[in-house]
Amino acid sequence: MPFDYLIVGAGFAGSVLAERLARVADKRVLLIDKRSHIGGNAYDHYDESGVQVHRYGPHIFHTNAREVFDYLSRFTEWRPYEHRVRGVVEGQEYPFPINRDTLNQLYGLELDEAGAAAFFERVREPRDPVRTSEDVVLNSVGRDLYEKFFLHYTRKQWGLDPSELKAGVAARIPVRTDTDDRYFTDTFQAMPQHGYTRMFEAMLDHPNIRVELGVDFEDVRRRGTFAHTVYTGPIDAYFAHCHGRLPYRSLRFEHEHLPDTLRYQSVGTVNYPNDHAYTRITEFKHLTGQQHAGTSIVREYPQADGDPYYPVPRTENELLFKRYEAMAEKESGVTFVGRLAQYRYYNMDQVAAAALVAARRLLG
Ligand code: FAD
Ligand code: UDP
Repeated sequence: MPFDYLIVGAGFAGSVLAERLARVADKRVLLIDKRSHIGGNAYDHYDESGVQVHRYGPHIFHTNAREVFDYLSRFTEWRPYEHRVRGVVEGQEYPFPINRDTLNQLYGLELDEAGAAAFFERVREPRDPVRTSEDVVLNSVGRDLYEKFFLHYTRKQWGLDPSELKAGVAARIPVRTDTDDRYFTDTFQAMPQHGYTRMFEAMLDHPNIRVELGVDFEDVRRRGTFAHTVYTGPIDAYFAHCHGRLPYRSLRFEHEHLPDTLRYQSVGTVNYPNDHAYTRITEFKHLTGQQHAGTSIVREYPQADGDPYYPVPRTENELLFKRYEAMAEKESGVTFVGRLAQYRYYNMDQVAAAALVAARRLLG
């Protein structure tokens, strides 16, 4: 069948758009992905031992946007889940983000809420303006906590010093004077009951949507033109890197199954800011609630080369992105949306929201 739209990338951005265009506007959509599966980086599956894992690292759904939550709820039921993380410093595990318990355990104190606030006030190094991720952390918790929890993790994750990254990176992490040890405080926090992949399958289950996997845009683009294209891959690749390469940070995922182990660690994710080449270990059964005699974990090793996972928020990169964005605006018949195409450090819900906006715009 002839198609009205070509959509490149079957992650959140591409799948939401395919669903909207097909279901709301009765458009015929060809959705391609160069990978062998749908779901983009949120793809999950059962490993060889039958434990549900996320191939591209832990994906925890959280949002304050009711519209996004309601929209996705058409395609999945949910399992309530609030993510907890602990950070290992000098061999001990502490609640992370830093809260009052972190302070009390780390320094052998018995601070109450006002005491914790006074503590941060005493140790913080005020910065004005707050431009970099180093500024953010020093300005709120001071040097010792910065060096114990943030400095080396950030160097490992990005290959950059926090002073070389924009404020928004470290600003993702709150600082608390109470004892709330949840990683997120959003209104809606839940995991798709049967996994992300099943949710994507339900979204794409429509006679107007044809999904072709293992297909690279470069091959399709040579074959002919579509009246409209939605592109969700790296924006610099679309333009053949004509202004130079946009940096994206990559990761290597080391998955491991541990037989006859009900629990490997106390919470979903344990961060290792100062030890090891990996940044964190996630144990999936915490996230999914699956019952199994064994357990499966993943370690994340940051690296410069490989699949693009993170835009790198630095001023110089954003300026380079602007040059590509200016080209994108002139490219008629193409919509650029998603974490790689918009070069924004988006969470899943933000990508879904951006795709819903793009769908509305396309459909007038
Ligand atoms: P992607 O999921 O990257 O999809 C883009 C797709 O385009 C890919 O499948 C790719 O193969 C395809 N593609 C690219 N180029 C081409 C081409 N030339 N031809 C064909 N196909 C192409 N967000 C959260 O909200 N909570 C979390 O806990 C969370 N954890 C994360 C952990 C890690 C390790 C990472 C890397 C990200 C995490 N995220 C999390 C962010 C989340 O993954 C993204 O926001 C979201 O998946 C982005 O969706 P997208 O559709 O924009 O991009
Ligand atoms: N970060 C840190 N120490 C930690 C956790 C996070 O320094 O223990 C910093 C680091 O720079 C990281 C950023 O905060 O890249 C954002 O962390 P988040 O957990 O949101 O990263 P993501 O899940 O997106 O990889």
